[in-house]
Amino acid sequence: MPKKKKILKDLTEDEIEYYFTFLNEEITEYDCGELCKGNNKGIPYCCTAEHAVPLLYKSEFSFLKKQGDLWHKWVPKTKADKKIEETAGDDQVFCECKGVQHCVRNQRSVSCRTFPLEPYLDRRGAFIGLTFLDDFTEKDPDTKKIKCPLTKKPGDIRQQFIDSHYTFWEKLLLRSEDERETYLDSSKDLRKNKKKKGKNFTVLFPSHLKDLKSVKEYIY
Ligand code: SF4
Ligand code: SF4
Repeated sequence: MPKKKKILKDLTEDEIEYYFTFLNEEITEYDCGELCKGNNKGIPYCCTAEHAVPLLYKSEFSFLKKQGDLWHKWVPKTKADKKIEETAGDDQVFCECKGVQHCVRNQRSVSCRTFPLEPYLDRRGAFIGLTFLDDFTEKDPDTKKIKCPLTKKPGDIRQQFIDSHYTFWEKLLLRSEDERETYLDSSKDLRKNKKKKGKNFTVLFPSHLKDLKSVKEYIY
């Protein structure tokens, strides 16, 4: 009997290229960097490694390195940085770009393209929409301003963006057991933390789920 071919655990460069095709929509009708640059020395909050270090798949890093020299491996400087570095999975690597003045739109990473949103899995474990990365809904301790002000303007996120990103995440969660576990955990933590604080959180629904009553029953 011919040996069954194993399913590859890690994503390949081809898959990364394919996934990028779902991540080309503009997040807003305007440049949302204008919302946060003023509080951050003229640089979008999410584009400095000091605030957010992009975590790339190793295959994504090698794919992007073939497109140009925008990315290099991030070098941790402090003890806290080293702790962050330890959170990378075996197939992932923390990276840093050359800076916003060198940004090339089609060389942005998955984490640049998806920021400030991540998939939300409800109490049943069903993937129902996107939610904001909780940490970026909080105030920055230095500026006392909301880290990502877009998190307070959910109505400004384009529906086309939500729809195509939902498709991307649906494919990824099906492809990677690790990613599914990660977001099951982060969704659970989000519910727990917000409940403790007596707060709700936003879920952005894709078009096909927006008017479905039952999908809202298991959010919190
Ligand atoms: S996503 Fe948030 S942090 Fe990033 S540029 Fe837009 S408003 Fe600023
Ligand atoms: S690649 Fe572009 S979008 Fe991504 S962190 Fe760098 S400047 Fe920001």
